Amino acid sequence: MSFQNPVFIPGPTNIPESLRKACDMPTIDHRSPLFGQILHPAREGVRRVLQSASAEVFIFPATGTGGWETALSNTLSPGDTVLAARNGMFSHRWIDMCQRHGLTVEIVETPWGEGLPAQRYAEILAADKSHRIKAVLATHNETATGVRSDIAAVRRALDEAGHPALLFVDGVSSIASMDFRFDDWGVDCAVTGSQKGFMLPPGLAIVGFSDKAMAATQTAKLPRTFFDVTDMAKGYANNAYPYTPAVGLLNGLNESCRMLLDEGLENVFARHNRIAEGVRAAVRAWGLELCAVSPEVYSDTVSAIRTPEGFNATDIVSRAAQTYGVAFGTGLGEVAGKVFRIGHLGSLTDVMTLSGLACAEMCMKDLGLDITLGSGVAAAQDFYRATPALTRKEAA
Ligand SMILES: *Cc1c(COP(=O)(O)O)cnc(C)c1O
Repeated sequence: MSFQNPVFIPGPTNIPESLRKACDMPTIDHRSPLFGQILHPAREGVRRVLQSASAEVFIFPATGTGGWETALSNTLSPGDTVLAARNGMFSHRWIDMCQRHGLTVEIVETPWGEGLPAQRYAEILAADKSHRIKAVLATHNETATGVRSDIAAVRRALDEAGHPALLFVDGVSSIASMDFRFDDWGVDCAVTGSQKGFMLPPGLAIVGFSDKAMAATQTAKLPRTFFDVTDMAKGYANNAYPYTPAVGLLNGLNESCRMLLDEGLENVFARHNRIAEGVRAAVRAWGLELCAVSPEVYSDTVSAIRTPEGFNATDIVSRAAQTYGVAFGTGLGEVAGKVFRIGHLGSLTDVMTLSGLACAEMCMKDLGLDITLGSGVAAAQDFYRATPALTRKEAA
């Protein structure tokens, strides 16, 4: 496999050279003020990327999955009920984690390809007069299906029912790439990781807690040790962790936030939308369909593309890896073999994206699909030419 090519998986994403360098640093004493000079700006940067004035940001040596566990175990007690929709592999896994923690999950089964059913949430919350439901789980961007859900609508469902449940949002494949509004949406726990929008190697679970979520930690009875935010907060007050932090990754995170905020979040989101639109133009030109059922739910970070009946979509991913040294994502769970995924988040340009589309075309043609070489590339080229990217200067 050639390592010269960009990856087109929806995480880990391509790492800009400056971030690779930022992660590569000599050992420092992680209990010294010097470490505080990395830790505190990194937390502040994340808070700004979350578009929050006051979220408490905690960063664990873990991955997004550890962030899920942080949200649950710090705020809930055994036997508590949570409300969640299952519309893809990631929402499914979070539900599974809840069940393994002894929580009761009220599951709204939702067709894969659709967004969260905010209307169903509203009905269930309105009917829950005794406030049995302690938290509502929402996967902002279902990475398995390329579906973005409307978190503001989930917030409205809670507010209209006058329901006090906490709102937990999985933003692992949206935060730092698509508009995510911690404060405006009244998010109580936001969860992400280092290896997607932040363009870093895997290894950090990144969470934001609201005041209400912090208050819930005082009564929550689920066992927690490694992911205890109270221990973490005590450590932070002394420029330290309760254990050894991932110093290099934190240095990278600090630099990543600086890059994102320098570009401007609006520009970051516009860039992802633009690149995604080019990919979608290619998919249309190929005569294929997205797994996402309608434009309102199209994800700007990943496209899951359905292949014709009887064709194994995973063959495209294998072919790309073996023959061309390029990584695409396979279908997961219910859509395994039915879709392949193009990740288009993080550090990516138009030209890099075109190379991925060209590679997908070669694979599909090699495997006998009725694809005209260059058709999707040309559609994307037309789109990119017609809607030029902001230059660095304009963006600044
Ligand atoms: C990648 C991803 C996760 C899991 O994150 P890990 O870092 O692999 O633990 C969770 N949710 C979503 C939506 C994701 O895309």
